[in-house]
Amino acid sequence: MKKLKIYSLLLLAIFFISSCSEDSLSGTSVIKDPQTKSNEFDEWILNNYIEVYNIDFKYRMEDIESDMNYNLVPADYHNSIIMANLVRYLCLETYDKITGSTEFIRTYFPKIVALIGSPAYKNNGHMVLGTAEGGRKITLYNINLMNMNDIAQLNSWYFQTVHHEFAHILHQTKPYTTDFNEISGADYVTDSWSDKDLKQALQAGFITPYASSAVDEDFVELIATYLTSTQEVWDGFFEVAGETGQPILRAKFDIVVNYLKDSWDINITDLRDEIAKRIDEMDEHDFTQLQ
Ligand SMILES: [Zn+2]
Repeated sequence: MKKLKIYSLLLLAIFFISSCSEDSLSGTSVIKDPQTKSNEFDEWILNNYIEVYNIDFKYRMEDIESDMNYNLVPADYHNSIIMANLVRYLCLETYDKITGSTEFIRTYFPKIVALIGSPAYKNNGHMVLGTAEGGRKITLYNINLMNMNDIAQLNSWYFQTVHHEFAHILHQTKPYTTDFNEISGADYVTDSWSDKDLKQALQAGFITPYASSAVDEDFVELIATYLTSTQEVWDGFFEVAGETGQPILRAKFDIVVNYLKDSWDINITDLRDEIAKRIDEMDEHDFTQLQ
């Protein structure tokens, strides 16, 4: 009976992750260990996340509200410090710079960033890199295998997810034009997105295979992929997309660019360039230390 219950919870969780649903999965409350003493990292989180952005950064397993936590392990303390520094440096502060203050992140970014040490897997074998719950919380997995010197890995494991989930909040707050829905129209395939490889996706006019799952996923994948790609890599995607995919991608990305400009006064290229500049300057920082 217990097994059955866990299995149904798992199914629910899988459905939830695949669909980026806005529904909250469960009413599980945060169970805090009252014995946990606050350390210097907790102080740093208070000063640099909670007070500045009204975002809590949860790295302790006992803080994790997860329906899958029976097979997950906690995030390593030192990697958690690196990730806290990197999320601030490569994401939060880049929006501060482009929008001119911390208000934008403070108002719209999810209120909780949670870390899990191990990866999670879906029943189709796909590793879950991150999940978001109702725009309120982003969970990043596989923190214990993070290599802070591998920017490609940092982007594909974590930052693509962070930008993806944040972009969902933006379009849920201010909707994009329905012209976007008409471009790929009937080509969205829901769960069969994983049957496509990247080349097939690009040639069908989708920036990633997952973008072909649903129209909102398509919209946010364009944003997340652009922000985590160099211009060279981005141009490479368009080249692979070829005659069939290129005009579709271009039409959709034009809408994305105008949406961010008109609805949020954000120039996505300026934002991408700010991120790229910071990536180039990563060597000048010691992200292993609380700074
Ligand atoms: Zn999504």
